[in-house]
Amino acid sequence: MPSEFDLIRRYFTRETPSAELGVGDDAALLAPTPGMQLAVSTDMLVEGQHFAPQDGPGTVGYKALAVNLSDMAAMGATPRWATLAIALPGADEVWLRGFAGGFFSLAQKFGVELVGGDTTRGPLNICVQIIGEVPSGMALRRDGAHAGDEIWVSGVLGDAALALANLQRRVELMPLEAASCLPRLRVPMPRVALGLALRGVASAAIDISDGLLADLGHILERSGVGAEIHFEALPLSEVAQCYIEQEAVQNCVLAGGDDYELCFTAPPERHAEILSIAQRIGLPLACIGNIKDTTGLSVLQAGQAMTIKATGFDHFA
Ligand code: ADP
Ligand code: MG
Repeated sequence: MPSEFDLIRRYFTRETPSAELGVGDDAALLAPTPGMQLAVSTDMLVEGQHFAPQDGPGTVGYKALAVNLSDMAAMGATPRWATLAIALPGADEVWLRGFAGGFFSLAQKFGVELVGGDTTRGPLNICVQIIGEVPSGMALRRDGAHAGDEIWVSGVLGDAALALANLQRRVELMPLEAASCLPRLRVPMPRVALGLALRGVASAAIDISDGLLADLGHILERSGVGAEIHFEALPLSEVAQCYIEQEAVQNCVLAGGDDYELCFTAPPERHAEILSIAQRIGLPLACIGNIKDTTGLSVLQAGQAMTIKATGFDHFA
């Protein structure tokens, strides 16, 4: 049987050139770049809640880091270091190799170094903390939206929720359609380059993890404003487009979680600049509505207010 320390050494110890001290001591030592603020965030993944027992370990390792990178993207921060606290039911080395493979493939892509963590026995539970840097005062916060700002989203909305709805048989997709949505649920791509490009451009930003309405709602609440969005303006994949007449699919688009796209606001003067950012980073950005000085969020379809039942994911609702 490998010991806890064998497992840490084999699966979680890599070079950490940008840390003064990485895995192996009582704490890691990190030197922030002068003039930068640290952006720190944690996300926990629980089996059955955030991933299914049948999801492969590579997918789980990837997603554990991806959701944290998405928080860095939403803050406009450059991700730099991570810690990983993991509870494992046993020392399943095939699982651990797969998990580490998924985790480090993404870490390497974004230049993130794993500098520490904790490994213990228990029901599978994964908690990643990420530490990033952002020039002082430049972070993209939720509380900066102003009346008159435009509201934007990246990529397409609803495919991750659509994949989940299909797995749970709440909608019925053709196999090829399901195959095109599933990666959006399993291996979302954090929009880090977009977050960096929006520094000094966006007035507020959030990543869409709980659904557009819920997450835009957080910006509105923190900023003390309201909003009007246009259903027709929401960016959809071809698959979502095909089924958009179904109410379940409309709910996926408006209130489905797990897309990990960014929703942000910016003054209308920045419109052309935002379109050129989209070109430069190769990620579509869609203007979906406007911030209002009255409170509340209304979704208009053909000029009429839609009645929305689902609002977004809440673990305790
Ligand atoms: P301590 O008992 O001082 O908390 P541990 O024995 O838990 O230290 O961990 C030993 C070292 O291995 C520490 O540097 C810790 O940060 C690191 N570590 C433990 N688990 C992990 C993990 N899953 N990923 C990365 N580093 C880990
Ligand atoms: Mg110690």
